[in-house]
Amino acid sequence: MWRDFSFSSNEAQPPVIQTERPSWFTDQMLFHYHRCHRRVYLDSYGDTAVKDPPSDYFVKLREDSAEHRMAVLEMFKPLKQPIFEKYDWEAGAKATYAMMAEGIDTIYRGVLLAQGPANVRYRSEPDVLVKCAGKSWLGDWYYVPYTVKLGKKPKPEYQLVATFSAYVLAETQGMWPEVAWLLLKERQYPVNLQKYVPKLEEALDNCLNVQNGILTSAGPPEVFISRSRCDMCPWLGHCYQEAKTQNHLSLLPGVTKKRYPTLVEIGFKTVEALANAHPTQLANALDVEQLITEKMIFQAKANWTGEAILLRGEAVDNAADNAADNAADNAADTELQIGQSPFSRYHTRHPDIELYFDIEAAPDKDLVYLHGVLVVNYRTQAETFHALVAESPEAEATAWFDFLALVNSYPRSPIYHFCPYEAQTVRRLGERYGDRGVDIDNLLGRFVDIHKCVVETVALPVESYALKHLARWMGFEWRDEDANGAQSICWYDDWLRTGDRTYLETILRYNEDDCQATYRVKDWLVKFTQRIEARAPE
Ligand code: SF4
Repeated sequence: MWRDFSFSSNEAQPPVIQTERPSWFTDQMLFHYHRCHRRVYLDSYGDTAVKDPPSDYFVKLREDSAEHRMAVLEMFKPLKQPIFEKYDWEAGAKATYAMMAEGIDTIYRGVLLAQGPANVRYRSEPDVLVKCAGKSWLGDWYYVPYTVKLGKKPKPEYQLVATFSAYVLAETQGMWPEVAWLLLKERQYPVNLQKYVPKLEEALDNCLNVQNGILTSAGPPEVFISRSRCDMCPWLGHCYQEAKTQNHLSLLPGVTKKRYPTLVEIGFKTVEALANAHPTQLANALDVEQLITEKMIFQAKANWTGEAILLRGEAVDNAADNAADNAADNAADTELQIGQSPFSRYHTRHPDIELYFDIEAAPDKDLVYLHGVLVVNYRTQAETFHALVAESPEAEATAWFDFLALVNSYPRSPIYHFCPYEAQTVRRLGERYGDRGVDIDNLLGRFVDIHKCVVETVALPVESYALKHLARWMGFEWRDEDANGAQSICWYDDWLRTGDRTYLETILRYNEDDCQATYRVKDWLVKFTQRIEARAPE
């Protein structure tokens, strides 16, 4: 319920100082809670010794975020910040309140406290509090909270946190601000408090239930590995180990967070049970197309037996990748029969020369800094890697035209890549820089997405259909074990900052390995389908 504040007394209400040790509930906890309930528990009670060290990419994001915050805050200057001893939040709240009562125009990282149920104290630290004209407990003015976020979109978790600031601020100044502002990467966004206060109250109730459960030793919320949510979480190593020990269903591609409770409810708690499920029963329970449950059952069978399974007669969706939790509901209608898979029809007889293509890009800079192309010549048995690299952001166009010239010199060769990003980027760069006479539609007609081919053709005993998982299962190893797309972005930053070519060479090696991995996956798929088809009856 929205709290009504009375102004019959116009007296300032300084924050209540608690003597009992409070249980804090903060902006950050709310943010993490929205993504994963278990995170709140682990952050409060987990053994920090088992946390993963921050990756270079995480550190880069944190630095980018701080830089963005500083740039945005320029427009609020002069800013005043409350002074208090670190972690003495009651003193911080007192100092903030004193500044608010004095009527300071803009307050940086003020501390706002409010009493929650029982021993819980809410604590919010909005980036800026801006003074506005209007009646409050403070006098003829009140404050509006501004929260700075690096993202471009007003994600629900951002809006929830901004609403939380408004909620705790209302308790401090005796009136609701009419809006809470999000300062995003490219725009300001007003959070609709009418819409978000009920959501906040529900989240607070649920969150405190989690805490109560913890306090009554109900234990931590169940682990659920979802790559999109867990990838940047410092507890991933710990949670992954637990999921592995339990052989948890979340490690099975296609079992999404949305579907999981229903699966458990109807008794499919293990991979083995799911492997023996009936697709119609499952489809009815999950309220999805039977095509999706058929794929799910094949996936469970593959993981249970450790064998690759050719998909037969079932339409296949892209549910395979656990990272795309909800994408799985969009099934593609591809009828596959033994001996008739689209993949085998078109790609098992390769031409003389094939190209394998992989891009490295930095979305934060809107920059494509490398087009890697592996040329495989079956006539000469030669494999040649071409790195068309932008050594500075200004060289992006040159790298693009070099890429066009290279692929145009093999006009009849298919261009294999993994996932749609390469094709989308080629279209975008063509629009940005032009095509120098190359027919982009024609060029894209030669593109073959190997990820799509895999998920439409086989079920594999893997936890994810990402390139790393697939190629590793097929025996391929990257020369740099820790290399990945996010790390490549950090290396490119390091190259720009230091001019040390080692960083550039490491990126090139990683990109070449990605091209090689795509080649190996394609090669494996060709051989597998040929082997199965050779066994198929006429
Ligand atoms: S790794 Fe995943 S399941 Fe574990 S706390 Fe983090 S987000 Fe939650």
